[in-house]
Amino acid sequence: MTLSERDKLYNWHPYTQHKTAANFPAIVKGKDALLWDENGKEYIDAIASWWVNPYGHSNTIIANAIYEQLTTLEHVLFGGFTHDKAVLLAEKLMEILPNNQKKLFYSDNGSTAVEVALKAAMQYFYNKGIKKSKIIAFHDAFHGDTFGAMASSGITFFTEAFQGSLLEVVRIPVPTKGNEESSIQILKDLVETNEYAAFIFEPLVQGAAGMVMYQPDVLDKMIAICNYNNVFTIADEVMTGFGKTGKTFASDYLMHKPDMMCLSKALTGGTIPMAITTFTQEIFNGFYDDNTNKALFHGHTFTANPTGCAAALASINLLQTVEMQHNIARIHQLHLDFEIKIKTHPRIKTTRVLGVIFALEIKTENQESYYGTMRNKLYNFFIENGIILRPVGSTVYILPPYVITNAQLEKVYTIVEKALEIV
Ligand SMILES: *Cc1c(COP(=O)(O)O)cnc(C)c1O
Repeated sequence: MTLSERDKLYNWHPYTQHKTAANFPAIVKGKDALLWDENGKEYIDAIASWWVNPYGHSNTIIANAIYEQLTTLEHVLFGGFTHDKAVLLAEKLMEILPNNQKKLFYSDNGSTAVEVALKAAMQYFYNKGIKKSKIIAFHDAFHGDTFGAMASSGITFFTEAFQGSLLEVVRIPVPTKGNEESSIQILKDLVETNEYAAFIFEPLVQGAAGMVMYQPDVLDKMIAICNYNNVFTIADEVMTGFGKTGKTFASDYLMHKPDMMCLSKALTGGTIPMAITTFTQEIFNGFYDDNTNKALFHGHTFTANPTGCAAALASINLLQTVEMQHNIARIHQLHLDFEIKIKTHPRIKTTRVLGVIFALEIKTENQESYYGTMRNKLYNFFIENGIILRPVGSTVYILPPYVITNAQLEKVYTIVEKALEIV
């Protein structure tokens, strides 16, 4: 039996209806933007394996940092102890985060980074004896699959089985072109009721919704409204963080900085699962008290795992190299060139580019569902052609590792163009 066949016996895959799913390719090797399956077939990983892997697969610099850490101190509990890599990583993040961010809380994945932010917002007010527990989020948001994160997410078929068991979250329209004023007004009406603890958003790009984009100036206005009304703002930068939008963080495009930020995905360059929620001093102070019960009682066994911290440090150092910054600018320019070339294609409805993110929407007769027929046809076409892309409904997006070569990226564009002829 092949690996691909043996996999089916026991493994339950994410977001997968196993009754209708085909056998999955078994990947046995990766290098830079490329992956190889057990039959030797080569794939270009044009979505950086769900956006985690900007510096390329099997990166030896990160691997060496991990090896060194594993053979020096693989793990120590973070309750009651600290270690050099957590200190160094904190110092490094303080250099690159918006300068209102002063405290870091470690966890294991994007969803838990969001949970920590939501819990901190709610408990902050609870500690002060103020009743404010509701959350505001955007339609079609994605913040993860644990309960709090799921409650804040708006992609309904992901969460419909659990409605009624979730946090109270009110959803507002995404301020895309033409919706800015109504979105701002709805937010304003909500926050003025004094019932809301926090507004959570994916800054500038809603990844899982299909790279839906909106402008920094409108988000700035929304953050200012929240600031004025004592509602915390949470920038979920799990996808956008570490260079994807062309700046280190999407929040770097803003004048008003969020109160909290959620980081994961590219944090460790796709090696060790880790996440960080970052906070202003004001939020931290809301827990700083002689009363033990006012502490943030949250933690995970692997909190601030030294190996994860070492991988994150090596990753951020890579991001800061001139070479990597050039790569980001290079991909951005290639995306813009491709956009000009493709946008007049008769099958195309819209295109958009931000940083290394490119997205196009295909014209359809009917509204395409998230995992609909067109999406599946496209997905299979890309895989057949050795390109890993996961369209969302009728949206095809590219978010490649920064180390992808021009030739590889041109190949991705060519296959995307061909795909327009088959749907
Ligand atoms: C992926 C993602 C999450 C969830 O992260 P996991 O590590 O999958 O739990 C949360 N927010 C955003 C914006 C994401 O893209």
